Parts: sequence; C-alpha cells; structure tokens
Amino acid sequence: MKTSWEELSERQPVATKMLKNAVLKDRVAHAYLFEGPRGTGKRELALYYTKVLLCENVTDANPCGNCRNCKRVDSGNHPNVYIIEPEETSIKKHQIQQLQEEFAKTAVESNRKIYIIDHADKMTTNAANSLLKFLEEPVSITTAFLLTEQVQQILPTIQSRCQSIHFNPLPVRFFEEHLHQKNLQPALIPLLARITNSEQVAVEIAQEEWFAQARALVIELYEALVTTKKDSLLVIQQNVSRHFDSKEQVQLMLDMLVLAFKDMLYIYAEQDNNVVFRTEEALMRQALNRYSLEKITTCLEKILDAKKRLTSNANMVLVLEQMIIELQEGL
Ligand SMILES: [Zn+2]
Repeated sequence: MKTSWEELSERQPVATKMLKNAVLKDRVAHAYLFEGPRGTGKRELALYYTKVLLCENVTDANPCGNCRNCKRVDSGNHPNVYIIEPEETSIKKHQIQQLQEEFAKTAVESNRKIYIIDHADKMTTNAANSLLKFLEEPVSITTAFLLTEQVQQILPTIQSRCQSIHFNPLPVRFFEEHLHQKNLQPALIPLLARITNSEQVAVEIAQEEWFAQARALVIELYEALVTTKKDSLLVIQQNVSRHFDSKEQVQLMLDMLVLAFKDMLYIYAEQDNNVVFRTEEALMRQALNRYSLEKITTCLEKILDAKKRLTSNANMVLVLEQMIIELQEGL
C-alpha cells in the first residue's frame, strides 16, 4: 500500500485532517464510525490509520512503511489486526464473539489491537448487541473502525459510542482521473463520474447496452429540443419502450438530460472544462442565443418534475411526453 496522508486527503480532506490531528494530539478514539457512499475510500483510510497506529517509527503521524508492523499490516497478516466482513449477507453473532475471544487472549504482542468491521450495517441484532457490550468494556488498548454506506441502519446506541466521520462523494475531477485508468471510453467518463461515485458501478454501467442507448437518446433529444428540426415527441415514442425496461434506467436518462442543460450553464459561465457532453458544445453555444438563463432553469425544473412523477406509478412514456410538451412550451 503506497498511499499517504497527502494522497488520501485529496479524496477526503476533512476525514483525513481529523484523523491525522488525533494522532498528533494523542487523542485517538476507541471507536470510529466511517460512514459515506461506496467507493469513497473508507476501508483504505481505516487500513492506513491502522498502519499509523501500529508503526514502530512514526514521525509526524506518518508511518515509516518499512518496520515489521507496517509490513505486516500491508500484507494483511498482523496478529493484532482483525477484519470482519459479512458472511454471505450478514455479520453474525459468532463472528463478533470470535473477535472478543481473540482479543481476550493474552496477546503475544502487547500493544494496541485494532478491528475493522466492514459493512457494519449488516450486523444481525444479536451481533450488534454483542458488539455493543464489547464497545462498552474494551480490553487493552483497542481501536475499532466500523465502516458503513448506510449509517441510518446502525443502532443509535452503537453510533453514540463511536466518533462518526463522514466520507463525502469523491471530487468529480479526482474520480474522472481514476476512471481514465480503467480503460473506459474517454467520451463516457465525464458522464459516468457524475452519475455514480462508485468505480465498480461506473465500470459496470459503461459496458451496458442501455447506458449507451440512454446517452445517445439524450443527445438526440437535446438536439431535437434546441434545434426543433426533429419532433422531440417522436424521439421519445420511438425509443423509450424499445430501449428501457425499468424506471431506474429512465431516471438515469433524465439525470443525463439534466446534465446536458447544466452544460449550457457552464458554457454561459465560461467554465467549459465542466461540460459533460463535449460533442454538443458547438450546438449548445448556438442554442444559448435563444435560451436565457431563466429558460434553462425552467427546463431543469421541468425535467426534475418528470423525475419525481416517475417515482409514483405513472406510465413512463406519458410522463416523458408531458415533460417534452412542457419543455417545448418554454421555447
Ligand atoms: Zn512502520
């Protein structure tokens, strides 16, 4: 693991600063709750912090990376580091009991012990109650990291015994750079980076047929709307039922349409490097002659309204048709 505080702080400036300061001021908590979306570096930061806490030659809160402890954390076989993950779908009571037994043993190595519970929201009620007791009566010097994407599913009594640290979605530009290393089509990357925070989801979506269709449809629809050379209603009628089989896919298509209209705002504000649909940039510039800021904002509202209506039981083609009519009215 070659990561460093500097590198981690590009992604999670606040979380990184809090944790680093705790080491510098010798105020490391007994238990941390890292909460935030998937792919935001919770586990990576927990492991790095583990290394900082166990390193034999820490300087200014930086682990040396070369001592016995650093090496064993890196290779995942430090006897004082214990990681729990869901077995199949949940974290069970016996897993927490095993942890307690392990930690109760007189340690071969007497210093700090660390455990990481990944997907802590997946603990069964029994497991959570066992953990609660363990958090209340820690043995020796213990540091716990509970990681979760769904903090609302963690018992309040557990939350109150942990220091919560929120992980924000990755800064878009950082995430884009990261996706460029994944052999994805470069033209898709700005779009993917704005519709998900997860590298895994981005890679999956990029390969799916409906995603390519949705992107093509958004471009076709956008062109039809702003040039009025084509009938936008027809574009909807010909494509929607053919290419999409779920409301979620249509929701995502509308998210992309929002991005297309936001692109116009970026061009207006001369922030061209934020533009997502770069192939449409020339057309967007022309369209700005006829679209006032007010009109663009109204269009954005209409699209978001349609998104809301989709969540009810409304027929998706009808919702989209109504949206198109509303978008045209503003022209
Ligand atoms: Zn070290």
